[in-house]
Amino acid sequence: MHVAVLGTGIMGAGMTRSLLRAGHDVRVWNRTVARAQPLADDGATVAGTPAGAVEGAEVVLVMLWDTPAVLDVLGSAAGAAPDAVWLQGSTIGADGMLEVAAARPDLRLVDAPVLGTKGPAEQGTLVALLSGAPADVAAAQPAIDGYSARSVYAGERLGAASALKLACNAWVATMNAAVGQSIALAEGLGLDPALFLEATRGGASDTPYLHMKAELIAKGEFPPSFTLAGAFKDVELIRAAARAVSVADDVLAGLVAAYGRAVAAGHGEEDMAAVYRAFPPG
Ligand code: NAP
Repeated sequence: MHVAVLGTGIMGAGMTRSLLRAGHDVRVWNRTVARAQPLADDGATVAGTPAGAVEGAEVVLVMLWDTPAVLDVLGSAAGAAPDAVWLQGSTIGADGMLEVAAARPDLRLVDAPVLGTKGPAEQGTLVALLSGAPADVAAAQPAIDGYSARSVYAGERLGAASALKLACNAWVATMNAAVGQSIALAEGLGLDPALFLEATRGGASDTPYLHMKAELIAKGEFPPSFTLAGAFKDVELIRAAARAVSVADDVLAGLVAAYGRAVAAGHGEEDMAAVYRAFPPG
């Protein structure tokens, strides 16, 4: 298929390479052109404008930071591919998705956030969360299959897939902060944090995620798969969504405080595991 990717950050770049490996013809655009340029070596065509990227595309994948970025870029690109299916993959919450849908009723929009991070994006093994018109989803499925191992269809309602994404990210953000908290707690109580990993190993509460994030903390190096700034953006979105439907937000309030503290301390561009820095022992 002719696929356009708008936004070649951590996720968009990996998804582009997966789409290319799956045999699609991919044209990309990124605000900072230098960040898109390396994708030319993988076989993508790098366009100078969003409109230039989407012209002639059958599917457009939008992988930007937040709702204002999505609205801004769609505003300048939509006219160039009126018949394409537009997969909105950025994490913008159900409200953000509805705002985009209201602003662009002329587009065949599919709500299409993804689960998984840098590695799965590069390997084409993300989980695609989808909602929208079944015919539009079906038309885009070959492209979706290029970057994902499986799809979860949440129904026709735009915003349903983005709502599901928030529930999933609440889980991930909680686990990630809990790893940092328990390691800091072990250290603060005078223990080798390796004892915490040894004690939980193989039990029902053990998870590969714990070991992945604990390893980064142990090394003190946090190359980003998902930035702390991104996780902070998401816990704020999730908390607002919880409040809007009167779901108690005690835990989310703690997450917003912890992620916010680590971002304020200058760790926003590190991996989200650096939320550990919000729990300095002593
Ligand atoms: P990223 O590496 O920071 O990339 C963000 C992208 O958005 C870049 O292409 C950036 O362009 C662009 N952008 C930001 N503000 C913009 C604006 N005002 N106008 C135009 N473009 C703008 O982030 P990412 O990790 O790829 O995340 C992208 C989206 O996917 C986010 O919504 C994130 O929450 C979501 N997500 C991330 C992960 C993950 O694990 N990383 C997983 C699932 C979903 P520049 O390069 O010019 O800054």
